[in-house]
Amino acid sequence: MIVAKRKPFDELKEMIKPYKKVLNVGCGTCVSVCLAGGEKEVAVLNAELDMARKLDDNPIELGAVTLERQCDQEYLAELDDMIGDYDAVVSMACGVGIQFLAERFPEKPVFPGVDTTGLAVNQDVGFYEERCRSCGACVLGMTGGICPVTMCAKGLYNGPCGGTNKGKCEISQDQPCAWFQIHERLSKQGRLDLIMGYKEPVEWLDQVPRMTIQPGYKKPEEEKA
Ligand code: SF4
Ligand code: SF4
Repeated sequence: MIVAKRKPFDELKEMIKPYKKVLNVGCGTCVSVCLAGGEKEVAVLNAELDMARKLDDNPIELGAVTLERQCDQEYLAELDDMIGDYDAVVSMACGVGIQFLAERFPEKPVFPGVDTTGLAVNQDVGFYEERCRSCGACVLGMTGGICPVTMCAKGLYNGPCGGTNKGKCEISQDQPCAWFQIHERLSKQGRLDLIMGYKEPVEWLDQVPRMTIQPGYKKPEEEKA
């Protein structure tokens, strides 16, 4: 899932300082599960902001709503009738949801309530570990299901580097060497020959704007043409 953490309170407070009526919009999917931007977190943030603004002698009126998802126009449409009542919006969705909301209501200042921190697994309650950087050229089939882009400190598609030492990464004794782990996993599976397979340089597709269109689908403007 997409993982995020709430922005530092003072930063948030400063961003919306000039506004008197602000709608705080939560997202009911990934950021809810990772305890950053769901209904509960919206209520907590609003209570903190309300108190802080009263103490600053700068009272604020805060609205609260949590959509099923903010990365989907169908759910964003639920805001159409209420957005006009507010001077600004705080979105507690991931960066994707925040942008989609801002795009639907371009006349409205929109502020991020969270910092998006990655695509992660749920290791424990409140503990999430990044596992994918959306590189667009997945090599997990050759690496025993361990992502070298995310788990190796250098993001090496071909490893290990010369810094690997008794299973640890050269950057820290607390950091396992991803390529050592890949070696162990492939060895267990009897597929160690794969580690010698050279992976061609990639285009780093995650560094440019991308679109994903599934087979059989088109962009809406192409559908109309
Ligand atoms: S190789 Fe690329 S797509 Fe596959 S898990 Fe790693 S970052 Fe994600
Ligand atoms: S020691 Fe291992 S994890 Fe660290 S940078 Fe080198 S290959 Fe990557």
